Amino acid sequence: MPQSAEKILDHKTLFREPEYQEMFADKRANFECRPSAEKVQEIADWTKSWDYREKNLARTVLTVNPAKACQPLGAVFAAAGFEGTLSFVHGSQGCVAYYRSHLSRHFKEPSSAVSSSMTEDAAVFGGLANLVDGLANAYALYDPKMIAISTTCMAEVIGDDLNSFIIQAKDKGSVPQDFPVPFAHTPAFVGSHTTGFDNMIKGILSNFWDEAERSETESINIIPGFDGYAVANNRELVRMLDLMEVPHTLICDVSDVFDTPANGEFEMYAGGTTLEDTKAALNAKATVSLQAACSKETLKYCEAKGQETVALNYPMGVAGTDRFLMKMSELSGKPIPAALELERGRLVDAMADSQSWLHGKKMAIYGDPDFVLGMTEFLLELGVEPVHCLSTNGGKPWAKQMQALLDSSPFGAGAQVWAGKDLWHLHSLLATEPADFLIGNSHGKSLERDLGIPLIRLTFPIFDRHHHHRFPTFGYQGGLRVLVTLLDKIFDEMDRDTGTPGGDISFDLTR
Ligand code: SF4
Repeated sequence: MPQSAEKILDHKTLFREPEYQEMFADKRANFECRPSAEKVQEIADWTKSWDYREKNLARTVLTVNPAKACQPLGAVFAAAGFEGTLSFVHGSQGCVAYYRSHLSRHFKEPSSAVSSSMTEDAAVFGGLANLVDGLANAYALYDPKMIAISTTCMAEVIGDDLNSFIIQAKDKGSVPQDFPVPFAHTPAFVGSHTTGFDNMIKGILSNFWDEAERSETESINIIPGFDGYAVANNRELVRMLDLMEVPHTLICDVSDVFDTPANGEFEMYAGGTTLEDTKAALNAKATVSLQAACSKETLKYCEAKGQETVALNYPMGVAGTDRFLMKMSELSGKPIPAALELERGRLVDAMADSQSWLHGKKMAIYGDPDFVLGMTEFLLELGVEPVHCLSTNGGKPWAKQMQALLDSSPFGAGAQVWAGKDLWHLHSLLATEPADFLIGNSHGKSLERDLGIPLIRLTFPIFDRHHHHRFPTFGYQGGLRVLVTLLDKIFDEMDRDTGTPGGDISFDLTR
């Protein structure tokens, strides 16, 4: 084999060596029982036809490549945003490895979570013993200030009762009686990571608020929601609110734990909303969610506690940011400062500078419901024409909201809204009604290669590009970043196209 200790080859080069190529050819010829190349091509072509699209869209009981993750992943993300909090997932270990690796691959940071490691015996007799031992071990080994428990499919299928289990674990001395152990049942076979995020945030707030008395202050709670750009977006939110001098608490702030410095120390619990602030957040006059789909149950709970509640949809672009800032101004009585007005003007100026390159471009968008709403609204502001707007975890109310948004602009006239559809549906949609560009996450790269539609990565998860999440997409500053990302792809594609036969007439230095 060509690999040697003296010269280690990366897999990209290693597997192109003749020995590997021969081995692959041999496997193909003698073991894979492949149909002929012509047959493969025939079927591949058929999957791009209207005939296949109709069959694909009629599919109801099978999901292929959904653009969503399961509930506990959202719960693990939510718990990471609180001071000294360890996620404890009651269920199978492999699931937890998936959440941790998903978050680590996106943020390029360690992601900590433990599991009660249920196996066959726990699946038959219940997971109480695993939870009792697991809580004791997690408390002793990792020295957390809070342990937040969620569940995987396995624990939910057998009906383990977290509340009862936690009471029993405390009675057995796994953790002190007054140690905070909020929990959320997060059955992965319903909802998605946004539901799991919501359930865990509500679980954490309930843990501190249920028995507490409320005494209203001027502070405002902000729930940023499940957001792959939270590292930069949360900092941008805080910067804007500080400029406005609005007293606030971010309910779940992962900006530090998923962005720790390389200083030789491993910080398992960097940053996060402090437990004191979480308790005091009960007294806030209002709670504002920046992603309605991530906070349905939490906002109901906040309202029941006497707070005013507001649900926004991903404050991206001009109107999205305007709405957020005006709402904060209305709630707090503080004016929007000149510094933010200046930023708004600069974003509008940049949009005007580049408008001719964006006008009439056709784009497809997929992702979480609020991301698709916010992104589409910004695209309409830019004169882009959305073609397909798809959200696997978006339901009928989301589709209605999307349609109203599209109807509000002439650029939305040709768009179709696809609630509950997956990325294999999107393959059929783009093959038959193509777009110039596709906006989504790393999972769209196979669509890009198969259909030749350039992918712009702007939402979670982004595994195959680095550090995007370190730059905000919220606010006017974030709008600039999104604008540049769109334009870079458009210009790169134009330059690339000039290298193709017949396209070599506009390799311009200035655009
Ligand atoms: S869907 Fe169920 S089995 Fe799969 S990772 Fe999520 S919790 Fe685990």
